[in-house]
Amino acid sequence: MTTHREPLDSVLDTIGETPLVRVHASPDAVPVYAKLESFNPGASIKDRIGKYMLKAMLDDGTLEPGGTVIEPTAGNTGIGIAVAAGQLDLNAVFVVPERFSVEKQQLMRALGAEVINTPSEDGMGRAIERAHELAGELDNAVVPQQFSNPLNAEAHYETTAPEIYDALDGEVGAVVAGCGTGGTLMGMAEYAREQHPDTHVAAVEPEGSLYATFLGRDAEEAEYKTEGIGTHDTSTNELFDPDLVDDVIQIPDRRTHEEMQRLAREEGHLVASSAAANSLASLQIARDIRDGEIDAPHDSVVTVFADSSERYLSKGVYRSFEEWEN
Ligand code: PMP
Repeated sequence: MTTHREPLDSVLDTIGETPLVRVHASPDAVPVYAKLESFNPGASIKDRIGKYMLKAMLDDGTLEPGGTVIEPTAGNTGIGIAVAAGQLDLNAVFVVPERFSVEKQQLMRALGAEVINTPSEDGMGRAIERAHELAGELDNAVVPQQFSNPLNAEAHYETTAPEIYDALDGEVGAVVAGCGTGGTLMGMAEYAREQHPDTHVAAVEPEGSLYATFLGRDAEEAEYKTEGIGTHDTSTNELFDPDLVDDVIQIPDRRTHEEMQRLAREEGHLVASSAAANSLASLQIARDIRDGEIDAPHDSVVTVFADSSERYLSKGVYRSFEEWEN
């Protein structure tokens, strides 16, 4: 599957062209395939947007070589941007509320980035404000802001989606992805609808998250443990276009936790909670297509496994449900 067989010049050349692998839990339903994004060098799907956004901003002159990229992020996006910045003669600065995962902050620093902490009690809002203040103090500095930057979705329209369609000779019935910023799903959905306007598109979120309200559903806000997907404040989800989405599937943490264990034990996938939620939603859609409840143009469902469980071992993802912390 992976096409990196020749020697490559840079770690950036290893981003993308990840394997697409069958998920086997419902053998009598239509096939489900997952794109294994932990094969990227920063071990998540966000390497794609790090490389894509930074290159695009260098190409159009928004950033000059030697410049600084400042992003308020505590997660995979920071690692993805740090990998790319290091190879593209750019500096990376991340503004991170203190309480966020220490492992991820260590990886960002190891990649040469600067991490600035803001007090946890001030939340992500303060981190965003601080990022913009810092950018204002420097020449040649930008805040890519993945939540509102169309380049985020474009990275998936240009890379993730075409790779999937190539692998399946265009025979894709449904695309399914958990939404954090919504960039992955929006890029895939736009591409999918161009290939076939009736491609079924489903967003995935934990129970307690509010993406469902975009489709006019009632959703009760609550805390959840599933990481990287979901929203508590839909005003921040500027990329999400409900017109491109047929359904929002909510998965309770307890089922996601069980599916994380099953994926590891039965299928050898050391993937994190957002992948497990995507797996469950995709398997449900595969059964609905088989039963004629969803009318899809082809008998297949595709999704992404965004990152690896190794990044969350300290949060107890493989301990009991009660011991799993967020
Ligand atoms: N899974 C994980 C583990 C993530 O870190 C993210 C990004 N927050 C997502 C899924 C969701 O991706 P997107 O931001 O493209 O919606």
